[in-house]
Order: sequence, then C-alpha cells, then structure tokens
Amino acid sequence: MNIKNVELVASPREPHFVGDGFRVHNFIPYGYRMDMSRMDPFIMLDYNSKFHFSPSEQPRGVGVHPHKGFETVTIAYKGKVEHHDSSGAGGVIGEGDVQWMTAANGVLHKEFHEKEWSKKGGDFQMVQLWVNLPAKDKKSNPKYQSIQSASISRYMFEDLKGTIEVIAGDYKGVKGSASTFTPIHLFNGKLNKGSKAQFEFPAHYNTALLVIEGSINVNEKEEVPLDHMALMANDGEVFEIHANEDAVVLILSGAPINEPIAAHGPFVMNTKEELVEAFNDYNKGKFGYLED
Ligand code: MN
Repeated sequence: MNIKNVELVASPREPHFVGDGFRVHNFIPYGYRMDMSRMDPFIMLDYNSKFHFSPSEQPRGVGVHPHKGFETVTIAYKGKVEHHDSSGAGGVIGEGDVQWMTAANGVLHKEFHEKEWSKKGGDFQMVQLWVNLPAKDKKSNPKYQSIQSASISRYMFEDLKGTIEVIAGDYKGVKGSASTFTPIHLFNGKLNKGSKAQFEFPAHYNTALLVIEGSINVNEKEEVPLDHMALMANDGEVFEIHANEDAVVLILSGAPINEPIAAHGPFVMNTKEELVEAFNDYNKGKFGYLED
C-alpha cells in the first residue's frame, strides 16, 4: 500500500454568478491545471463558498434550463434550495441534505432559493457536482434521489471526535444512501480540532478534498486552508487528514469512466454528433415542459 500524495492545492478562483442565486468558485475544471477529464467521473464542481444573501421577496436562482448525459449532485451546507424538473419531481434541500439528480437522457429543471428562506436571507453555502455517466447510461431515464440529512449513513469515530457522513460508496463498512452508476465515494468528513481520519481508495480512482469549514493537513505535509481543494495524485491508495481546527471536508473519489467527453453548456455526451443531436432534441421540445 502506498501513500496517496497531494498533487495540487487549488485556491478559490474569482467567483461568478450562476443565475442570480449561486455565487460560485469553479474548481473542476481548474484552468490548465485540471481539465474536465482529470477528475473523471467528476466533470464539474462549482462551490458557493459561504456568502450572505440579503432578504428578497423574489427568490434568487436559475430559471428553466436543460441537462443531458450526466448527474447533478447538490450538497447543501447553509441555506435552502428548491428544485423542480420536467418529470414532475422536485423538493427542497436544506442544511445537510443532498439532491442527486440523474439527468441522463434529458431533463429540464430550475433551481431557486426556497421561498421562505429567501424572504429572510442568510448565509448560503453549497456544492454542485456533475457526475458523468457511461455512454450506455446516458440513455437511461431521468431520476431524482432526495437524500435528507437524517437519513445519511454515518461512521462515528470511537473517540467521538469526528463523523464521516457517507453520501455514496462506503467508509469502513458504512454504506452510503445514494445509488450510483459507477463506483463513487462521496463523504462529508466532520472532524473536531486535533482529530484525524484515514482514507483508502484504489490508486487509479480520481480523488479530491474540498475544505468547507476550518482547515486541514494532509499526510502531515500539505496544509489545505478553508475554501481550497486538494487534488490527490494517482500514486497510491492511502492518505490521512488532520483537522487543524474543527473542519468539514468534502471527500470525492471515483473510478474513471475513461470514455471521450464532448461537452457544451448543460450537455455532456461522448461525441460532437451526439451534442448536436442533444441541442436539436432540446430545441424540438423533447426534454418535456416546465413552467417558468
Ligand atoms: Mn441545473
């Protein structure tokens, strides 16, 4: 077993707004240091670091838009988001909740701050991750997994100095609630100051750590400050996180799909021809209908 080292500590780049409700730092891809395939099957990660939204009668967010060919995973740390999609599904995700939407063969959805939350305003902090699908699964029907905080499996450390919330995959035998198309581990590590946690993933799994609260040290070598992401190298299997202060860390690791990626806007396919087809299908109204 070899140590998995840190390849890059990525600092948050200039934020931009997605619609008027999400102020995000884009971590995947990350300029020339990390293209869309480097963290395959995770092809996009937008991080809304903690940001205060003033009260608004009109909920802020993103209006009706399509997705095809992958899954969007929204992890809420602060604030509340309301989703609706063209299959009729929808729901509210609040602090600690996760929404795993499989767009697959095409869906329309909209994402807004929840109405009552919006009226009060407050701190807002979320991650949106795009998980790619193998070609055969891009053809499957859309679905929606609403994972409430209370239903997330947890691994508790014996000294009670930390918890690993297993959203998908497994940690030391504790299995995650989300079903995935390819092998994926997605955890929220909550570590008290001074505590540590070990992780083990196959070397070829693409792995990264995003520091949501506090700050950490990886392998007693690399410091990863708040709102930074550590891209882990594919050189080994095991690594250790130390919490320099009370910390929350999003841990993502997955088996690469290793298929060509043809992406444009909200569509992620395998070839240019399929992208053109996706746009044509969307324009023909094949993704269904969703009211603004
Ligand atoms: Mn979307």
